Amino acid sequence: MRCSVYALFSVETSMSDQSKIEWTDATWNPVRGCTKISPGCKFCYAERFAERFRGVVGHAYERGFDPRLVPGKLVEPLSWRRPRMIFVNSMSDLFHEQVPDDYIGEVAKVMARANWHTFQVLTKRSRRMMDLLNTRLRDVGKLTHIWWGVSVENRKHGLPRVAHLRSAAARVRFLSVEPLLEDLGKISLTGISWVIVGGESGPGARPMEKEWALSIRDQCHRAQVPFFFKQWGGVQKSRTGRRLAGRTYDEFPDFSSIPVPENGVRL
Ligand code: SF4
Repeated sequence: MRCSVYALFSVETSMSDQSKIEWTDATWNPVRGCTKISPGCKFCYAERFAERFRGVVGHAYERGFDPRLVPGKLVEPLSWRRPRMIFVNSMSDLFHEQVPDDYIGEVAKVMARANWHTFQVLTKRSRRMMDLLNTRLRDVGKLTHIWWGVSVENRKHGLPRVAHLRSAAARVRFLSVEPLLEDLGKISLTGISWVIVGGESGPGARPMEKEWALSIRDQCHRAQVPFFFKQWGGVQKSRTGRRLAGRTYDEFPDFSSIPVPENGVRL
């Protein structure tokens, strides 16, 4: 696939077909960089990573965390033959205000076409995602191999995002409750297919109470929504692990991917 509108942007070929993020297999970043929008962004891991390379000529993050399009990455999932779960824009936010609607449309076209993968789109710009899913992305929103999610770190900023998500014409909706910063209380899980919960990690990490996570787990089980406990977090997340009440929770929604086509028919 060729994206003529953006062909003049830089072409970069590095790929991230493996990820250490527990709930995905790979990351795909046709956009890089972002700006902070709510308390969950305070210790943004993507910013921390990207800014380490600001000014390093030739590095993918030579421009640090400044938002920019990377059209050379658009076709990348079409070249990955093995089906995998792909976290879209792990280093940015697809619905950031500096990403044009047309470019989001190009990303959506690739996801629709690469239907042997499962795409996980996660945003804090939930209103824009809702508006686009209800208009020009309506057909893409019906596809079960593309999952649309919002970040929920607290009640004030996170719960309105859940409402936007529920109002969006999406077939598969999910919540990433990370970093969980307070008790969310009762949340409506109607129309939600998956919930991930995690505590913050890294320097300065804000602690997550066990009761906050258990409350969400119990609500998920009552509503029969798959629950994934990602991590406790903390300054050294390897020490705190990812067991909750004596076990791990690695539940996923059951939307089977379409089999991989034979060589030569994907591009
Ligand atoms: S929206 Fe996500 S990528 Fe953007 S600054 Fe916040 S945490 Fe980082």
